[in-house]
Parts: sequence; structure tokens; C-alpha cells
Amino acid sequence: MKYNCNVIKDLLPSYVDEICSDESRKIIEEHFNECQSCRDLSQQMKDNSIETNLNVEKNEILSKHNRHIKRKTYTIGIVTSVILMLPVVICLICNIAIGHALDWFFIVLTSMLLTASLIVVPLMAESKKLMWTVLCSTGSLILLLFTCCIYTHGDWFFIAASSCIFGISLIFAPVILSNIKMNENVSKYRPLIVLGWDSIWLYILLIACGILGHYNMEYWQLSLSLSTYIIIAILLCTVVIKYIKTSKIIKSGILTILIGLWIGLANNVINIFIPSGSYNGLEHLDLSKGFSTAITDNAVFNANIYFTVIVISLLVGISLIVIGYTTGHKKK
Ligand SMILES: [Zn+2]
Repeated sequence: MKYNCNVIKDLLPSYVDEICSDESRKIIEEHFNECQSCRDLSQQMKDNSIETNLNVEKNEILSKHNRHIKRKTYTIGIVTSVILMLPVVICLICNIAIGHALDWFFIVLTSMLLTASLIVVPLMAESKKLMWTVLCSTGSLILLLFTCCIYTHGDWFFIAASSCIFGISLIFAPVILSNIKMNENVSKYRPLIVLGWDSIWLYILLIACGILGHYNMEYWQLSLSLSTYIIIAILLCTVVIKYIKTSKIIKSGILTILIGLWIGLANNVINIFIPSGSYNGLEHLDLSKGFSTAITDNAVFNANIYFTVIVISLLVGISLIVIGYTTGHKKK
């Protein structure tokens, strides 16, 4: 070989980029005839440089396209905001012109705000579009309810607001919470945080109804105990599903038993919190009558049903747990 491979390797980059002198190219190509490894290396470098070029080009096109789309949505967003502002300005002028206080003007303003947060926010938000849309539209909805309530001299604002927030939270709280950055220790408890937040709004709604309706003690006892009983059931199911480390079959067994007991014992547990005599809407269920086959009255009939639910859920649940354990052992 005329030249050492290392000398050729030094020349290769300029050869691949086609900027070397004719003399160097001649030398290199002569060397290729004798040396397979340098020829391979040159081919590899050529492939790499083509790939890099393609990637750069692709990224350029993509970012250009993105910029274009972004500019377009921004324009649409701004045009929509201007269109939405028109009725507001017209109403303001009319309102002042006919000498009214600015009462219904604020209703128009806040309803436009609600429309804007539903249309403009998703267009303009850089990221987390759903989260910002939900937050902004909830805020403007509350504001709209507030202005309507004041304008009509109503006293229903707290009920309307808390029921709206409760309903929206039920659907969107998990989405919003998943958009918020948390450290790992806190984010483990996300499902419980959502459950806690929803429960708080359920209680606020119940309290608002109770205060507005001037209800008596029975309302508070019944509503609070029923809601708490339901929330505890959801809490237990969440804990089983999310935090107990065991197989899916065992989990479904535990859940079946939990839900069966929850349904079967509902009346009896809630009755503990409602003093007997003051309220007779919930029957005290005598589960011992569940054995009876002679249906003499509704009490026996109900006891039969609840008793069957408990027995079946226990049987199904226990068999699922046993199946889970045995298949788990086999795997090991
Ligand atoms: Zn070589």
C-alpha cells in the first residue's frame, strides 16, 4: 500500500463532502482498490451525512409548518375576541344612553366572557389547552351566575355555583390534576386528592341547599350520613384498586365483597346516624329474616333481597380471592 490508512482517514471527511483536491481524490480512490476497511468507512460517512441532511431538512419543514399553524390560530383567536367584544361595546353604549345603571350590561359582559373562554382560550393557549379552557370557563360561568343572581336579587348563587363546580370537578378534576406537576411522593396520592376535592364540593353543595331551604335537623342527618356512607365506599374501592399490591383477581374478589356488604348493610348503618322515631324513611333491615321463605310483608321481602346480595357477593368474592391465591402460587 502506498499510503498508510491513517493518512487516508484524515482525508476522508473532505472526500465525502466533495471538497478535496483532484490529487487527493485520486490517492484515496487508489487506496480504496486495495483497502476494504477504508472503503467501508467512506460509505458509512456518506450514509451518515445524507441522513443528517434529511433530518435537518425535515425539522426545518416541520417547524415552519408549526409556526404557520400557530400564526393562523392566533389570528382566529384575535378576530373572535374582537367579534365577541362588539356586543359588549354596543350594550355598554345603549345602557349608558338610556340612562340605566349598568345592571344587565354586566350579564352580557360575563356571558361574552364565558363564550370567549370556550372559544378563544383553546385557540390561544400554548399548552395544556383543556386545563386552561376548563379553568377559565368555570371562572366565567361562576361570574355569570353571580351577576345574574345579583341582577335578579336572588339568593340561589351558592347552590348554583357549588353544584356547577361539583359537576365540573367530577369530570375534569382528574384531567386538571394530571396537568399539574407534582413531586413523586404527592402524585402517588392523586386519586385520593381528586376524591377529597370532589367530596368537599359535595358537602358544600349539601350545606348550601340546607341553608337556603331552611331545612330541619332531619335533612342534615340524612343528607350528611348518606353522602358520607357513599364517599366511604368510593374511598375504600379507590384504596383497594390503587394501593393494595396484589393480583387483579384478588382485588376483584375484595371489591365484590366490599360492594356486597356496602349494599346489604346500607340501611342498617345509616340508621345508626339517624335517631329512630325522628325519621322513618329508611327501614331498619332485620337481616335475620333473610332466611325466611314465607314472605309475609315487605320487611321479609327486603331482608331476603339484601341477604341474598350479601351471601352471593361473599361467595363470589371469596372464590375469586382463592383462585387468585392458587394461580399466584402456581406462577411462583
Ligand atoms: Zn486503508
